[in-house]
Amino acid sequence: MFVDSHCHLEMEEYDGDREAVLGRARDAGVSYMLTVATEERYFSKALEIAEGHPSVYAALGIHPHNAGAYSDALEERIRGYLPHPKVVGYGEVGLDFYRNYAPRKAQMEAFRRQIPLARASGLPLIIHSRNTRAETLQVLKEAAIHPIIIHCYSYDLDTARKLLDLGAFLSIPGTVTYRKSGLAEVLRYVPTERLLSETDAPFLAPEPHRGRRNEPAYVCRVVEEIAAIKGSALEDISALLAGTFASLFLDRKERRSRGAAGKGPLP
Ligand SMILES: [Zn+2]
Ligand SMILES: [Zn+2]
Repeated sequence: MFVDSHCHLEMEEYDGDREAVLGRARDAGVSYMLTVATEERYFSKALEIAEGHPSVYAALGIHPHNAGAYSDALEERIRGYLPHPKVVGYGEVGLDFYRNYAPRKAQMEAFRRQIPLARASGLPLIIHSRNTRAETLQVLKEAAIHPIIIHCYSYDLDTARKLLDLGAFLSIPGTVTYRKSGLAEVLRYVPTERLLSETDAPFLAPEPHRGRRNEPAYVCRVVEEIAAIKGSALEDISALLAGTFASLFLDRKERRSRGAAGKGPLP
């Protein structure tokens, strides 16, 4: 059983063959996929896909690339989507000082403003952080929010240690199969219990698909690589990763909705 903790199934890249992509994921043994809607125009499409497929769950939030669109009105609309039974995560939010598609000030504001939203919803916070290690650490330290998932982990071991101290989980993408990713050192240190596996599809396809469109079926390559670096059996690693995903996203949502319905206590 494999889990793709972060992909973008609602993106236009899959409009021509989405069902085939989902079929290949199923055939490859991918039991759960979390599709992450990064801007408002994707929200309802991501939810539709999740509603139509038991193995697909959704997260939504305003990506740093789209931070310029953040407003009070948008915030209200986001709030309306969060109670949906298949929305199990908040994000991705954060900072991207590599592409700089939105001004840094706007990125910082959208990031900071979405943290209370995530906190109030009780959903895990999914972080996108590229070339902005110090600023991300600073915001997360001040926020003191749990749980945090650092998606597409791309930093060094020292940063991983600091993030683990903040209680973060690190989600490992297909870049782990690239020769110069530097992720092996990080993976040898980080306990498997604090890891997740993802594709970030359609981006960042693992070897041997590098440079082409990525898809959730390829998460097997990521998990194989993690197992090889950890020196553990593939079945053991994939079971651990699936267990972590379920307790972070699925059980948590389930407990909260039971609590909200007055049928059981909140954790
Ligand atoms: Zn991202
Ligand atoms: Zn993403």
